[in-house]
Amino acid sequence: MIDPKPTASHFINGAYIEDKTGTPIDVIYPATGEVIGRVHSATPQILQAALAAAKAAQPIWAAMTGTERGRILRRAADMMRAHNRSLSELETYDTGKPLQETLVADATSAADALEYFGGLAGSLTGEHVQFGEDFIYTIREPLGICVGIGAWNYPTQIAAWKAAPALACGNAMVFKPSETTPLCALKVAEILHEAGLPAGLYNVVQGLGDVGAALVSDPLVDKVSLTGSLPTGRKVYAAAAEGMRHVTMELGGKSPLIIFDDAELEAAVSGAILANFYSSGQICSNGTRVFVQKGIKPAFLKRLAERLGTAVVGDPMDEETNFGPMVSERQRDIAEGFIAKGKAEGAQLVCGGTRLERPGFWLTPAVFTDVTDDMTIAREEIFGPVLSVLEFDTEAEVLARANDTDYGLAAGVFTQNLPRAHRMVKALEAGTCYINTYNDAPVEAPFGGVKLSGVGRENSKAAINHYSQLKSVYVRLSPLESPY
Ligand code: NDP
Repeated sequence: MIDPKPTASHFINGAYIEDKTGTPIDVIYPATGEVIGRVHSATPQILQAALAAAKAAQPIWAAMTGTERGRILRRAADMMRAHNRSLSELETYDTGKPLQETLVADATSAADALEYFGGLAGSLTGEHVQFGEDFIYTIREPLGICVGIGAWNYPTQIAAWKAAPALACGNAMVFKPSETTPLCALKVAEILHEAGLPAGLYNVVQGLGDVGAALVSDPLVDKVSLTGSLPTGRKVYAAAAEGMRHVTMELGGKSPLIIFDDAELEAAVSGAILANFYSSGQICSNGTRVFVQKGIKPAFLKRLAERLGTAVVGDPMDEETNFGPMVSERQRDIAEGFIAKGKAEGAQLVCGGTRLERPGFWLTPAVFTDVTDDMTIAREEIFGPVLSVLEFDTEAEVLARANDTDYGLAAGVFTQNLPRAHRMVKALEAGTCYINTYNDAPVEAPFGGVKLSGVGRENSKAAINHYSQLKSVYVRLSPLESPY
């Protein structure tokens, strides 16, 4: 196993840097509750150093060709794959997620983003528009300095999903990981620089929300990309608006997963498990409102209980384990609070929702039935291993109920009736829809929310539009006339 202790708290201008005058932040391994490291929150001097490094480096980076920039990102992708095991162990130390997951879902996903946007970098263009004798062309330009602020559930992936398109477009980035998971972004920075990224282009600073807030309102900053909760999103969006900064907001959700009577039962159960219990339920796009049609409900509940009984809960570093602890005591307390509310409001807890008698932040997979649309567990994002089953009769009814939420991150449908599946996803109010699957998030697909789940898209070619802007150039070849 690796030693998870970070070399230093921050990574600025191509090097690790420490400043112990900042507030200490203990790094806690969620599986044991042990302190495994310590970083210090960024002081104003550290923040200014990071922003100044980004400011100095960005024009030189933007002047390089896209192919040159892309080559560095692709080299970083190869290095991430080569170091997948140690990066996965670090992700497990940071988040508590089982190694069985982190080996396939974190550094690999980060590498995919670096490879994809590295590949795109050389083909970023504006366009030519013929306008009679005259013509217009557009120049695709970087935005400048981008701030990335991350949540704690996918620290390696979030760091890279923001870095890759930002750097491909010729921007510099200052990234602040969540204080709960400060380790992985430092490694992303280290690898990018080992791959040849010039100093100053990707800086990592630690800190609590106040550090994020200071970054978001700094006059040097041109764009803010946040992955976090809706309340934080509201604050960050408002602060960014002061300076007319570009934003990407990847926020929370309360997504519906709809299982029709004609669904293939084992696939539907797999979908519900992936949509609720992967990463101990700490995934923004989770389908936590599981609408099950009356006819299939008994069989669905029976198979779900049987299969949950085979979950291997335990040491996340053991590759047999497929269900780990929650990220923090605070997050477990939040999930337990929702479970208590579910019971108090009349839902039936059919299994799970209990702590394990061991150190760390363990909560077993919980399933509620008899959940109604008005219950707190059916309305608010829990961000923990809590699945709610809601019964329905008809397609029209479930569609209306599924859309009756302020969120709109994702939605899923399980049915063998393909016309119905396409009809449903057309009408579902969500940024990402799944048919007979759930939670796949390849870099090729745009990812983001509608309604209160966010603004903008990460991944895919769509992300380029959120990290670049177009300058229009009008070129006159026809005679220029003037009224006087
Ligand atoms: P938070 O909103 O609590 O925090 C997100 C980040 O914002 C953290 O780095 C936090 O710092 C920082 N922050 C907090 N306050 C401010 C502020 N005023 N200004 C600037 N930055 C601030 O989210 P969590 O970390 O608890 O993550 C869980 C949430 O993230 C869930 O709602 C989930 O749905 C969402 N999420 C969305 C995803 C998506 O792609 N749509 C993906 C993953 C998660 P600190 O932690 O140090 O306080």
